[in-house]
Amino acid sequence: MTVLAIVVPCYNEEEVLQETAKRLSDILNKLIIENKISGSSYVLFVNDGSKDRTWNIINELYNSGNVFYGLNLSHNVGHQKALLSGLHFVSDKCDAAISIDADLQDDVKVIEEMTDKFHEGYDIVYGVRKSRDSDSFFKKHTALGFYKLMKTLGVKTIYNHADFRLMSSRSLQALSEYKERNLFLRGIVPLIGYKTTNVYYAREARFAGESKYPFRKMMNFALDGVTSFSIKPLRLILIIGFISMAFCIISFFYIMISYFRGTIIQGWTSIMISLWFLGSLIIISLGIIGEYIGKIYTEVKERPRYNIESVLFRNNKNI
Ligand code: UDP
Ligand code: MG
Repeated sequence: MTVLAIVVPCYNEEEVLQETAKRLSDILNKLIIENKISGSSYVLFVNDGSKDRTWNIINELYNSGNVFYGLNLSHNVGHQKALLSGLHFVSDKCDAAISIDADLQDDVKVIEEMTDKFHEGYDIVYGVRKSRDSDSFFKKHTALGFYKLMKTLGVKTIYNHADFRLMSSRSLQALSEYKERNLFLRGIVPLIGYKTTNVYYAREARFAGESKYPFRKMMNFALDGVTSFSIKPLRLILIIGFISMAFCIISFFYIMISYFRGTIIQGWTSIMISLWFLGSLIIISLGIIGEYIGKIYTEVKERPRYNIESVLFRNNKNI
């Protein structure tokens, strides 16, 4: 039967952890009783270098039974890396893993629906928010603007999906092939492929405590998202270079006409022509270098080039 692992990254979450543990174990017990998951399913708390009592609480939970496990990171590495460490850890110790934040903003009831979808044969099930009513005006609009920007840049992300998702063990193994350091899981997971679907839920306000994503971290995260998935900003330089070269040609005629009309002061013609020409030449050169840097960037990430879904092959040809 399906062993389900629930992975919860925690950073200074002492105020919510007991309640989160209770709600998660309730839902696990319910699914176990309904025979939907195995009795050895569990919750893994990843302590991301918390400075409060988070790790002590995880220890207490671990000693209280055999539902809760803990992974203690040596220092704070941020939500994405903390989550990845947990997913790597469980990838060979479960059939499916669900990642969820510690603050109970995501609806734990949806876990049942996710498990059902997994049994229907889906490898990845995204938790998608129905609305953003629980977010501040600022967070709502910056987030929506960000999704739009990502789409314009050609990055495949799931609209209104945070990191609440179910992944089968084979998709977790595929995920471990992405070795990049600048992590933006929401962009990587859609690259894995396999059969995916969405489940919808209303996102609540934080149960207790405050957001561990201040504005600075949010901006870094957004920048990581763009620069890890798109080399279009580099290509933009080349396009700007060509546009200014076109301007250069147009202004060349204008400058020459002004020259022959004699309506200009001496020296202006040569300065203007060389200014435009050299300017666009420099931008084009930067753009060409950018193109190569973009290629190098994609190469060094060594992302897998394909991912096999299934094979039909009979070994009767003595290969
Ligand atoms: N988190 C983490 N490391 C960090 C920051 C956050 O593990 O450096 C965890 C945090 O404990 C929570 C999840 O990531 O479980 C999401 O953080 P938060 O709820 O503060 O973000 P928000 O919902 O405000 O975007
Ligand atoms: Mg939150």
